[in-house]
Amino acid sequence: MVLDRCLLKQKGELRRIVCHELMHFVWMRLGNGARRAWEGVLAAEWKARARGELGWSAEWRKAGLGERDVAGRSRKWREYACESFCATGAGLFAGGGEHEEYTLGARFRKRRGGWMEELVGHQRGGLRI
Ligand SMILES: [Zn+2]
Repeated sequence: MVLDRCLLKQKGELRRIVCHELMHFVWMRLGNGARRAWEGVLAAEWKARARGELGWSAEWRKAGLGERDVAGRSRKWREYACESFCATGAGLFAGGGEHEEYTLGARFRKRRGGWMEELVGHQRGGLRI
């Protein structure tokens, strides 16, 4: 992991970015069941035509998706799911607050937050990262 030195002067942003990168390790260790459950959260958002995301890396991937990607769980969809998971975790665990990249609607954010809290509750003691 390589971070830009200028982030040392932006503690909140540094925390958010490092947390996002650490979430990638969580995603790798999560297991297929939990990853598919997360995709279910995203598929429900897609069906509800939820706009926005919780980070640019997820946002631009979401913008490139089509119905076939979602229905067929394409590689683009799965990459989006990963980025969305990491962006959501970073948003939740890096101190909260608002950010210009947090464009997802409040009700969808709340749903994701509940899902993440439940995940942490289930995984506590079982997830080694
Ligand atoms: Zn990422």
